[in-house]
Amino acid sequence: MTNSANAKIEDCSTTLTLLVFAVLFFISSTAAALPRKDYSAYLNPSQKYLDHQMKIILRKVSLKYHKGMSRRARFLDWKRKIKLAYKIAGIKNLYELRSQAAEKIEFHNIPWSWEYFRRLKSKDGHKEGVRLAIPVWIPRYSITVKLYGGFKKKWEDVTSRDRYLGYIYFCPSLRNVNDKKHYRPSKIYIETSREFAPFAYLFFQYIFREGLADTNLRVPIMSVRCGEDTYAAVEKKLPPVFTCVEFRDEINGDFHYRVISKKCDTFSEIIHGHHKGRSNHRIGCAFDVNSFDFPDVKDGSPNPISKAKRQFNRDRLHRIDARNLPRWVYEAAETIGFRVPYQWSYGWGFTDWHHIDCGKEPEPTEKAIARKKDNGSRVIKKTP
Ligand SMILES: [Zn+2]
Repeated sequence: MTNSANAKIEDCSTTLTLLVFAVLFFISSTAAALPRKDYSAYLNPSQKYLDHQMKIILRKVSLKYHKGMSRRARFLDWKRKIKLAYKIAGIKNLYELRSQAAEKIEFHNIPWSWEYFRRLKSKDGHKEGVRLAIPVWIPRYSITVKLYGGFKKKWEDVTSRDRYLGYIYFCPSLRNVNDKKHYRPSKIYIETSREFAPFAYLFFQYIFREGLADTNLRVPIMSVRCGEDTYAAVEKKLPPVFTCVEFRDEINGDFHYRVISKKCDTFSEIIHGHHKGRSNHRIGCAFDVNSFDFPDVKDGSPNPISKAKRQFNRDRLHRIDARNLPRWVYEAAETIGFRVPYQWSYGWGFTDWHHIDCGKEPEPTEKAIARKKDNGSRVIKKTP
């Protein structure tokens, strides 16, 4: 090769390098100039299964959002709508929904079952069970999985001949689960009791709206199991190989984990459930959020029935696998008046999972009894 040929090649490579830089600069500058996609329309998904009256109620309690809405403004709007939802429902505490349902079940002499309860008439003449669309954030490359269920003793008995309950999302890659920047807005359908629906809607709207305001606050809501007795994923397609987190042990609070690849024979092994006895699920007043069960994975995350102390470190678990709900979501649930897992005892240790419900009638606390006595004595003093 001659010197001039070498020079030509060098010339050529310099020009090429400059060209590449110019293209890169152009791409990066246009990307920066592109406006962020406006997803706010997804806050109010269309409700094709709801009656007119229910739609009006949801419209009233629906959260507002505009670009740049401050955290405080969002919170105040939310608090106002919660108050309104209680006023519309005509209740002071959510557990009243449970006692009302219990009375109704007794009156109609039916089993404590969602399949029976959802068919009863509510006060306004509509059916107790509603199918509600909620806005959610979904990781990219998630796939939909169909669920079936009914009044069954075991989830293993559920087949595609049972009632179709809707779909959930499954994301095979943990990396995509944690990639909040590439989440997309979507909606999923859940079944709830008519009276519980506005509270459920407010809760999921709040989670979605925080994600609209701040990408870091996005929480993937991929499966919400609400009103039902027993369910399982029944799909012809096989589950893809997926990645998930496995911890070193199932009891302690340490965070030693590894990411493993896993293969299951059916989707139903990963997605199934049976709500026992007088469960609040059976009256459409409870959620299990992101309930995925990875068989033979040590305290696999997210884990609907983990016994490990680490479960209480919500934010750290959320960073490892975003399907674990962060602390602010539990706090939001408490603000609405839901019962959250750490408010009740399971009786056999520290088992915990993403279950949120309308609670049960609280025992009067010593403080409340003392206050009552105190008020009573004051009344006596005032009375001549
Ligand atoms: Zn549950």
